[in-house]
Amino acid sequence: MTEPSIWWQHRADPPTQPSVPGDPGPQETFDVVVVGAGVTGLATALELVRAGRSVLVVEARHPGAVTSGRTTGKVSALQGTTLSELRRRHGDSPRVTAYVESTLAALDWVAAFCDEHGVATQRRDAVTYAASRDDVSTVRAEHDAALDAGLGVRFETDPDLPVPAYAATVLPDQLQLDPVELVLAMLEQVRKAGGRLLTGRRVQRLRQRGETVHVLGEDGLEVQGRHVVLATGAPVVDRRMHFARLTPQRSYLLAFTHPDPPDLMALSAGSPGRSWRGGELDGRRMLLVGGEGHETGRGPRESTRVDRLRRWTDEHFPDAVELGAWSAQDYMSLDGLPLVGGLGGPSSSVSVATGYRKWGLTSGVAAGIALAGAQSGAEAPWSERLYTRAPRLRDVPAFLGVQAGVALGQAGSLARGVRRPPPVEAARSGGCAALPVCTHLGGTLRWNDHEQTYDCPLHGSRFSADGEVLEGPATRALPRLPRLPGTGGRSSS
Ligand SMILES: Cc1cc2nc3c(=O)[nH]c(=O)nc-3n(C[C@H](O)[C@H](O)[C@H](O)COP(=O)(O)OP(=O)(O)OC[C@H]3O[C@@H](n4cnc5c(N)ncnc54)[C@H](O)[C@@H]3O)c2cc1C
Repeated sequence: MTEPSIWWQHRADPPTQPSVPGDPGPQETFDVVVVGAGVTGLATALELVRAGRSVLVVEARHPGAVTSGRTTGKVSALQGTTLSELRRRHGDSPRVTAYVESTLAALDWVAAFCDEHGVATQRRDAVTYAASRDDVSTVRAEHDAALDAGLGVRFETDPDLPVPAYAATVLPDQLQLDPVELVLAMLEQVRKAGGRLLTGRRVQRLRQRGETVHVLGEDGLEVQGRHVVLATGAPVVDRRMHFARLTPQRSYLLAFTHPDPPDLMALSAGSPGRSWRGGELDGRRMLLVGGEGHETGRGPRESTRVDRLRRWTDEHFPDAVELGAWSAQDYMSLDGLPLVGGLGGPSSSVSVATGYRKWGLTSGVAAGIALAGAQSGAEAPWSERLYTRAPRLRDVPAFLGVQAGVALGQAGSLARGVRRPPPVEAARSGGCAALPVCTHLGGTLRWNDHEQTYDCPLHGSRFSADGEVLEGPATRALPRLPRLPGTGGRSSS
């Protein structure tokens, strides 16, 4: 498959890592099997191996392959309008306080980790700004919520930004970094401390036998642990319909060289959201621009969204020269807080962590600290409060809202006619199912013309043009039809 150019992966040592020597097989029982090698899985694994636990990380693709290796690389306690949104939904709930405490703890963790292991970071102001007069009150609400949460923000009525801005709240001294460098350094430390890693192995099922959880998957994968952490974004084994409590949100990032990139990390309040920051990579001065978030597999064509970001950049940063454009997705939970804790069902030996609403460089690390602490007995003071409670009656309207969205997504796909790949792509891919249907719950897939993928509008599963699972709750490839007559088939690509 042709991957759009991901700037973080333009490096001499790409993040594809070989597996540990030898498949551990079913005879060895690990204290914890962590499924997924993004920031969540690696933070969990690292905390556990540091606490003396035996850990195996099983990764379907390669470390950082899905969301963690494609982020904007902002590590910040000021997160757009998150705090005011949480306050609106939850008031002064202890869970919101725990969220802020966990974010600050994760920020410290990342800063210390990067200092100790030579990951380059830059200290920058994080800025939430009003791109229109209508958004000033939203920025003011975020400022007030941040102040009340104890963050040292300052309010600016006439911010000096390179784009139109009517007000801003600014939190100094946050971090920006290269997320792939972070993932690779975390992986190296997991290994140095004795953790093991299996890559290219997709987990499909869990089976509880006595005190042990058997982790089963592709190509005869069978490993076992006393505890399993699903750090896979959307949970790939589901006992309590977590997929129905999460909304997959895709958004786009473009990287540019720029002679004078901004020295801050900005995010606009209101719509359309624009996220941007400056930086340097491999000695080049660069600008990152992101936005155009939408529910996966729904709405206008993906390439249209990328073009909108190009036009916006052209207007505000005319000296920018594009280097690459890519996208990624993260999950929104029903209550806006991370979904961290037990998976539910008959066993208490499986945990899950997701739902970071695009702030997983802190929330994923916090989840790792919390889940590892629960295993090692060294629980952070905020972790108990951060855990997700079982759904309550008051969650019902939000739950129904997500389900209505899912139904509309499917209806929209069918009404507009299924967007299929152009014939040449179908031929190259060896001819997938003519009407691709998601192997998770049967959603009608939609062709994503920017990433050249099939995306599911129901729960966000995504497949490459030749049907392999890329991400989301699905664990099985699309069925393939015989090669189209008169084409060279897969070998022609
Ligand atoms: C465009 C964009 C920009 C963002 N920018 C920022 C930012 O600047 N700052 C910030 O804090 N957050 C940001 N985020 C959010 C952040 O990137 C995510 O919250 C975070 O990376 C999630 O990490 P994760 O480890 O939970 O998931 P992932 O990184 O997706 O890792 C999950 C891993 O599990 C593996 N996996 C999945 N299924 C299986 C299976 N069945 N078997 C084995 N392995 C499996 C996957 O291959 C993957 O490697 C951004 C998100 C997006 C979409």
